Order: sequence, then structure tokens, then C-alpha cells
Amino acid sequence: MTSQTPDRYIVSLCMAGFPCRYNNTDKFSQIIVRLIDEGRAFPLCPELLGGLPTPREPVECVDIDGELHAISQSGKDYTDAFRNGAEQVLQFAKQHHITKAILYKNSPSCGIRTYDGTFSGTLADYSGFTAQLLLDNGIEVISSTDLETLENL
Ligand code: SF4
Repeated sequence: MTSQTPDRYIVSLCMAGFPCRYNNTDKFSQIIVRLIDEGRAFPLCPELLGGLPTPREPVECVDIDGELHAISQSGKDYTDAFRNGAEQVLQFAKQHHITKAILYKNSPSCGIRTYDGTFSGTLADYSGFTAQLLLDNGIEVISSTDLETLENL
């Protein structure tokens, strides 16, 4: 009989119940907490890792000449912090041989799809900084949107 090692995941820290979102709230998920309790999920917040505080200005991703920028509603450019946080999440995944992530939807860092920079609730067809960097490096990214429908996590 063969026993298969259960998958391990990078997960968005806010889904573990930590209030690290821009507005000091969380996105608690019972499934994520169960995975953490089982030692199979590693909660990280790329925006905190990038040096940003909580609370912080809301930011959306803007495609400028094919390059993604993280711009706040007041026009401040946070791209360096977003890139830095994404890189740290990728390095953690590589160091710990983690090949899957479950990330919170629509975030400018974690979203597989994210808002388009108009602050009008319009989703763009590109991903947030961390989701995109993980995808570019062969890591499977599962959106929180799909979490409830997944079985056998
Ligand atoms: S960057 Fe990701 S982990 Fe951090 S608050 Fe936003 S969605 Fe949650």
C-alpha cells in the first residue's frame, strides 16, 4: 500500500484570521485554519512582508506600458513594496518546497484577478503581484473563490 504525502500550501495570512488587510480586517476561513492546524498551510501576507503597515491606503494594480504598478487612490506608487513582498513569498515557497498556494481573491497582491486601478470595482484580466510571481515560477495558485468547491484539500 502506498501513502501519499498531503499537499502543503502557502496561504494568505488574512484567511487565517489575522487582520492584515488594508482596512485592518481579516478574511477568516475555517478551511485555511484547519490546514494550518494540520501543519499543511503556511500563512504569509506579502504586503506586510513588503514593509507596509496595517491599516494602509487601498492600492490597485495599473498596467503602465505592459508593466504592473501598485498605485494608491491618492496616486502614490507602492510598486517596490509589492514586488518585495511577492519575492519574499516566492523565496519561502522555494525554500520549503511548497508548490501550491491558496490566495485571497481580487487583492493587488494575492488575487488571481485584481482590480484595474480605476477604483470602480472593475476587475482586470491580470493578476496581483504575488499571484503572478508564483504562477510565473510554476506554483499552482488556487483562489479563495474556489476554496469551498474543492474537495480533499
Ligand atoms: S496581501 Fe494577501 S494576505 Fe495580505 S491582506 Fe491582502 S489578501 Fe490578505
